[in-house]
Amino acid sequence: MTTPRDKYCASCATPLEQREIFGTERPACPECGRVVFYDPKVAAVCVIARDGKVLMIRRGTDLGYGLWSLPGGFVDRGEVVESAAAREAWEETGLEVAVDGLLGLFSLPGDPVIVAAFTAQETGGTLAPGPEALETDFFPLDALPELAFSRDTEILALWRGIASIDSQGD
Ligand SMILES: [Zn+2]
Repeated sequence: MTTPRDKYCASCATPLEQREIFGTERPACPECGRVVFYDPKVAAVCVIARDGKVLMIRRGTDLGYGLWSLPGGFVDRGEVVESAAAREAWEETGLEVAVDGLLGLFSLPGDPVIVAAFTAQETGGTLAPGPEALETDFFPLDALPELAFSRDTEILALWRGIASIDSQGD
């Protein structure tokens, strides 16, 4: 995913130039000096397990259309990240969940999105795909469907590692 480049200064509408500022090429205004700093976006996803299987959605949005991913989405400005994770899970799967742990933060060089991955437990609701999902279902880790994001493989590997450590005490 690449960041769209602004063409005009938001303060004075002068066409922007690329300038190296703090070691990175950034759009800058030759007229008033305004520099555009692009912020990362934060997404939150949930690992929700039932009988050792993990809840996935088949994506109905442009990015990865028809492929599967963990339920999740972007955090609104001012929204508590855990609340965003639970909200997105509910919107996409119909299940009410309570976030109970942070698995980790996932980011890649040049990728504007930082993903916060949480574990969550079902508290209610009925499994049904929301408007941005084509299907939703639980899958065993050794028989996952085709994933939209390699990041989800990384998140699930981490989750499996933690789950197997937890089960050693049983
Ligand atoms: Zn300007």
